[in-house]
Amino acid sequence: MAVDLQELTKQALEEIARADSLDQLERVRLRYLARHGGLISGAGARLRELPADQRAAYGRDFNAASGAVHEAAERRREELSSAELERQAGEEWVDMSHPGSPLSRGHAHPVAQLVREIEDIFSYLGYQSVSGPELEDDLHNFQLLNMPPEHPARDAHDTFYLAAPAAGWLYRTHTSPVQMRAMLTSKPPLRIIVPGKVARRDNPDPTHNPVFHQVEGLCVDSGVTVGDLKGTLEYALRALFGRDRRVRLRASFFPYTEPSLEADVACGVCQGSGCRSCLNKGWVEILGSGMVHPQVLRNGGIDPDRFSGFAFGMGPDRIAVLRYGMADVRDLYENDLRLLERF
Ligand SMILES: [Zn+2]
Repeated sequence: MAVDLQELTKQALEEIARADSLDQLERVRLRYLARHGGLISGAGARLRELPADQRAAYGRDFNAASGAVHEAAERRREELSSAELERQAGEEWVDMSHPGSPLSRGHAHPVAQLVREIEDIFSYLGYQSVSGPELEDDLHNFQLLNMPPEHPARDAHDTFYLAAPAAGWLYRTHTSPVQMRAMLTSKPPLRIIVPGKVARRDNPDPTHNPVFHQVEGLCVDSGVTVGDLKGTLEYALRALFGRDRRVRLRASFFPYTEPSLEADVACGVCQGSGCRSCLNKGWVEILGSGMVHPQVLRNGGIDPDRFSGFAFGMGPDRIAVLRYGMADVRDLYENDLRLLERF
């Protein structure tokens, strides 16, 4: 029996030394040492068949044989592994000077770019950018802005009302409620702009989308006049559209301003001759404004005998359409990268 083990060990060590790959080494290891059916492991099972006085010696020989084969296999595995690493290092070298593959860079959505631009323009004039809640109550969205229940001006604000359990709340129809919140929490002088999303139940068409953006502006101080309003709007519109674009101001009506002015810009697609984009008007309305109504100042806790102010609201979506000569405002919301990547 002992001779058997010696002979098996000798064979195993020779085969291990000859193994020239990790796969081959593993096959050799299993042939001799597999728990079931390994040649040396199987020799161990004969222990039980031996007379009691021979078992201790056979056990020692068996342990020595399997230990020697196991150790030889481990040593050979290390040799083969480092040889394999060296081979890889030699063959699979990395060219550190090879140019990397380019990463495609994203950029802000054209409307977000315009909002930032508007913020920059007004920041230069001393305005601070603030935000307010998108879900509002009737008081801030309408009543404090001189639109009590049943006021006809509410018809133009076709409103999304929230259902129970949020009944009584609405999706703001303009950013003007943030004016009220600012007046109620700060003292003049006030110079703020309020970029944000608003919603009205408009049918989508080339110039309307139910959800759109507004940038509201408010200036309250002592001695603010219509001249300040006109100067501010002219400065901002020239900064946005360039000195060449024709701009007109015309009288309008809003319940929360007196007097009220609207600013139109010549259509960027047809330059004023009329097209589908401007619904054949040649002009696109981009801005409503006016001197803050004395009652609205009072509603905001500001004394209209000591202070006056102006407010304006503009649509960055519409400005993007004009600026880039887009035919349809809805293209801004389709998330078609082929289009958005152009801006
Ligand atoms: Zn046009």
